[in-house]
Amino acid sequence: MKPKPTGAKSAQPFKSMRDIEQVIGLEVHVQLKTESKIFCACPTRFGAEPNQNTCPICLGLPGSLPVLNALALDLAIKTGLALNCEISARIKFDRKNYFYPDLPKAYQISQYDMPVARNGHLTVEVSETGQALREKKIRITRAHLEEDAGKLLHEGIKDASWVDYNRAGVPLLEIVSEPDLRSSQEAFHYLAGLKSILQYLDVSNCNMEEGSIRCDANVSVRPKGDSKLGTKVEIKNMNSFRGVQRALDYEFKRQTGMLERGERIEQETRLWNEAKGETQGMRSKEYAHDYRYFPEPDLVPFSVSQKKISELKASLPELPRARIRRFLTDYGLSEYDAYVLVSDKSLGDYFEACVKEKANPKLASNWIQSELLGELNSRGLALSESKVPAQNLAGLIRLIENGTVSGKIAKEILPLMFETGSAAEMIVKEKGLIQMSDSKLLEELADRVIKAHPKPAHDVKTGKREALGFLVGQMMKETKGKANPKLINEILVRKLSS
Ligand code: ADP
Ligand code: ZN
Ligand code: MG
Repeated sequence: MKPKPTGAKSAQPFKSMRDIEQVIGLEVHVQLKTESKIFCACPTRFGAEPNQNTCPICLGLPGSLPVLNALALDLAIKTGLALNCEISARIKFDRKNYFYPDLPKAYQISQYDMPVARNGHLTVEVSETGQALREKKIRITRAHLEEDAGKLLHEGIKDASWVDYNRAGVPLLEIVSEPDLRSSQEAFHYLAGLKSILQYLDVSNCNMEEGSIRCDANVSVRPKGDSKLGTKVEIKNMNSFRGVQRALDYEFKRQTGMLERGERIEQETRLWNEAKGETQGMRSKEYAHDYRYFPEPDLVPFSVSQKKISELKASLPELPRARIRRFLTDYGLSEYDAYVLVSDKSLGDYFEACVKEKANPKLASNWIQSELLGELNSRGLALSESKVPAQNLAGLIRLIENGTVSGKIAKEILPLMFETGSAAEMIVKEKGLIQMSDSKLLEELADRVIKAHPKPAHDVKTGKREALGFLVGQMMKETKGKANPKLINEILVRKLSS
């Protein structure tokens, strides 16, 4: 049943945005990671010359017949299981009819009333720096298989368009959420959580620039506390998770403004304009679709055995939520740290590889999140492109732990590791960066420093411990930061306590 519109010319317009909540449901299209298309043998490889990856089937030529790619179905079922869905025992495809030049057959093969998966949920971890995670369960309505359409290109042609059918027939899984999200921030975390799961499952490349994850947002507003849904607007054309968040923020302001003015919100589709930072309406008639769904006669419905589903379930890897819990118990990390490391699978793997190489887990977590990511960002590198493999970072961390270098010197070593690809030990030896832990030398130096600075030395003696920092600083300066700070502290305290 369609919800009744809110905000119909009412005598009492809403007073302020605080009295109104945003309601969001997302439709996410995920390109599944298969070598070939969903109903033919054409490659799915991105970046080929236009129309290279095509054949009579994906071009929709008469007489050609589709055959389902078995791997696409497996990946869809795995994703459904990871999203806690019920998996349909019977697989059926339908034709969704509409006319647009990017759709060669003038229908898309999709699933209408029997999606692969339904009635699931995704627990979203909403994180704020340094805070414990807030969890929220977002219900998943359904996930269904369908084929992608082609792509219109407008460059280098006047009053016409090119069409590239390389993408036509690429397998997609459309994942539809219930309208359970209440803010743009929750929507962002839902997308991040979903992407993370897809990465762990290895069912998609999850590359937004290549369009392997795309998202449409359905969004409405209503007075807080109401259970009735407001009239929804569908926003399309966002090409990043931040874009989705910005579009939702814009739309919240726009819709709230309308309610405040007592205006009526019309159901429509709007396009996000990234450059202008606004959503723009399309003539709604253009979008009043009747897809005339009917069963795809060229693909006979078939059953998936319970055994097959169980096997796929058993093959699921450890998923992000479980991994976060494990990082808490195994490594004693904070929830926030565990969340950051786990969200990106490769970062979590890197962390665990460091720990395996005997790095202290907490130090490794800190070093990865601040120094390593800092270096990667400033160099514009992905983790996979870095010259510092986990065993090298672990090596550096071990040098800090066993007192060979101070944390300060270690921060100077890491950029050198990035430039040379050398192990920390090598750099320390070459540059003579070994921390001075020779107590005889340090004792002598302490005597000299105390002599040179009688006032602070006297202060420390008479109980003003603040002056100690100054003396430590002097010793650090003399040794160019190489002295073991713990040791010089001990020496100074001993010499000045009498
Ligand atoms: P349609 O028939 O227009 O495709 P659906 O009922 O299939 O609409 O819902 C599509 C998406 O819109 C789902 O993600 C759903 O959660 C969301 N949705 C539905 N109604 C609303 C609403 N009033 N406000 C926000 N999102 C909504
Ligand atoms: Zn083909
Ligand atoms: Mg829909």
